[in-house]
Amino acid sequence: MTPLPGVGTPHPGPVLGPDSVPVAGDRRRHPAPAHLVFFHGPMDCGKSTLALQVDHNQSRQGRHGLLLTQGDRSGAPQISSRVGLRRDAVELAEETDVRLLVRDRWAGGHRVDYLIVDEAQFLTGAQVEQLAELVDESHVDVYAFGLTTDFRTRLFTGTARLFELADDVQRVQVEVLCWCGLPGLLNARVVGGAMVREGATVVVADTGPAEPGSGEGAVPDGGVPVRYQVLCRRHHARGQLGPTPTGPGQLALP
Ligand SMILES: [Zn+2]
Repeated sequence: MTPLPGVGTPHPGPVLGPDSVPVAGDRRRHPAPAHLVFFHGPMDCGKSTLALQVDHNQSRQGRHGLLLTQGDRSGAPQISSRVGLRRDAVELAEETDVRLLVRDRWAGGHRVDYLIVDEAQFLTGAQVEQLAELVDESHVDVYAFGLTTDFRTRLFTGTARLFELADDVQRVQVEVLCWCGLPGLLNARVVGGAMVREGATVVVADTGPAEPGSGEGAVPDGGVPVRYQVLCRRHHARGQLGPTPTGPGQLALP
């Protein structure tokens, strides 16, 4: 397995092997520095898969994690990936205090050594600060995963605060390409076949699970289908969704 930089590797400091992860008692006597790590990228870049892989790696070391997500409307919140992995997660609301969530777990006798936070772009600034406090004061490692920018190419709120506070910020190796073959870095919102640049940051289908069929887009109240497409910077700027020689606003896609 390819080592993930910044994952399980305290910095600055020596690289610790799996056997050197201290047990809870030792952690209190010699608190190892915990870290807030943020992985970000465009849609469909494999963030949730990476989140589950980090969780797997951590749990194999005997550590206990708590998985958090947001915007999951299923009623049974999960972190799921396109390769079929899924794990139950706790749904965060905007008003959730993550510190209290973790302390409740501790009060219930459960260990929480690390947090996996998916859809971290939707965190409030206050919640990112709560995560940083858990890292610094309670030595809980936090691995957050989220989108970089919204369809207007602006940083999401949670993403911006994570950029400001995280110990380590890493762009997820992009697997998704623009239709032209260049790496896709930006998310385009497509309404009724045309790219739009204005509107609410979050609409239905923003965080739908990336499964077969989800690319069809959701149909919000207005009745016009909304979908998202990853583009390179140039084609995002041009609003060009495909190789057809039509300009913005007259895109005829199959
Ligand atoms: Zn392109």
